[in-house]
Amino acid sequence: MKKNDQFELDITDISDEGAGIGKKAGFVWFVKDALPGDRVRAAATKLKKNYGFARLLEVLSPSEDRREAPCPVARQCGGCQLQAMSYEAQLRFKERKVLNNLKRIGGFEGVEALLEPIIGMEDPFRYRNKAQFPVGRDRDGRIIAGFYAGRTHHIVECRDCLLGPEENQRILQQVTDWMEAYGIPAYDETQGKGLMRHVLIRKGYRSGQIMVCLVINGEKLPHSQELVEALRSLPLPEGEAVASISYSINRANTNVIMGDRIVDLFGPGYIEDSIRGLEAESRAVTFRISPLSFYQVNPVQMERLYSTALEYAGLTGKETVWDLYCGIGTISLFLAQKAKKVYGVEIIPQAIQNARENAELNGIQNAEFYVGKAEEVLPRWYEEQQEKAKKEGFPEAAERIDVIVVDPPRKGCDEKCLETILKLQPERVVYVSCDSATLARDLKYLCANGYKLTRVRPCDMFPETVHCECVVRLERRIWLDRRT
Ligand code: SAH
Repeated sequence: MKKNDQFELDITDISDEGAGIGKKAGFVWFVKDALPGDRVRAAATKLKKNYGFARLLEVLSPSEDRREAPCPVARQCGGCQLQAMSYEAQLRFKERKVLNNLKRIGGFEGVEALLEPIIGMEDPFRYRNKAQFPVGRDRDGRIIAGFYAGRTHHIVECRDCLLGPEENQRILQQVTDWMEAYGIPAYDETQGKGLMRHVLIRKGYRSGQIMVCLVINGEKLPHSQELVEALRSLPLPEGEAVASISYSINRANTNVIMGDRIVDLFGPGYIEDSIRGLEAESRAVTFRISPLSFYQVNPVQMERLYSTALEYAGLTGKETVWDLYCGIGTISLFLAQKAKKVYGVEIIPQAIQNARENAELNGIQNAEFYVGKAEEVLPRWYEEQQEKAKKEGFPEAAERIDVIVVDPPRKGCDEKCLETILKLQPERVVYVSCDSATLARDLKYLCANGYKLTRVRPCDMFPETVHCECVVRLERRIWLDRRT
């Protein structure tokens, strides 16, 4: 077999990245866009010693799980790896992925018994409250906006992403019409020239407030007033309004989308949205969200995810809690309603500013926020508590932590952070994770040092993609005296 050779293959499995897997003559093939149960014709694209990659040419006999992908550019765009798979099958795929990682990486044999059913969506499209569209030019010089084709920086024109709200395409149209009208050049990555790089659109699903932030390769945005007028005059569905327009300065030739300086053109520099818990007695919490702040992209599932985290935290009103990687304080403020005291830590200063404003906005007084890395702030806080105990002469002078919630980015927690969690010895640790591989790694460490995994629940925050969110609970098994 050599490159471009064509062959038929039965797909029997699927990789964590969503590629179909089939075996032929002892050789393992990875075929993107093929599903388990498909019989396909494929062409070899890359060959290694025992395995290879192939391109899907034709589905000869389709899997039971196969359906027509609703989006016409699903295959070109790298965003939705699972669109051709029925939603039911997507959910099973994600449950399996979490289980496999917990077993393979974490060594949690028998974890099936703990797995609670994945929380799926009733309507798994149009859920995303945030989109970042790259802007460029096609061969004829026409301005295009859309998505990068999988693993490249080639822009596929697509303004109506089926994961986001329908309004996005009209907002994009206003921006590109304005660019054409005033001769605003699109950014050309290969030369590092041109101005307009990305358009970030965010929508508060509960508030109807929309944010538009243009990412530019420059310090100033010419004709910005005309842009503000164009965006503000856009007819939108009842109850919606463009509430914040800004630009972000990013002159670096890197893959990072946002620059760290934001210039406001219209509005207060943030939009507001609110989150409601699922329990009958829970009240809605309002949040201010700035262009640089992290905010969960799926508001429907976010409420379910946070309610699960809250349930796992098992709060009675007496507990002191840390929320590590707290963003704009979403989980912290949710927990604060049921805890005695909540501490939050987050690396992005603007997010912490939002978190403090959000606490005030909601009249929440028992939450305190720190800017910094969790792996630096938490150990420092622990040392301070130890000092205090030493000075006062009795160990109880150090504040006790009952519950620690962590919600790190994909790379998981820093070891220093996990080490400090062990020193603090909370009764429970609630780990919210968007990557079950790093989750499994971190859980293995905590469970080798006195904790026990007691609950696991995946939550489908990202339908149509291979990504899966997961909440787990750990309980302290033994009391280790690490205070000295
Ligand atoms: N819990 C929040 C945010 C979770 S996303 C929510 O649900 O909305 C992860 C957050 O961790 C991001 O806001 C990111 O800025 C922050 N972060 C990344 N590395 C960090 C670190 N080393 N220490 C603290 N925060 C970090």
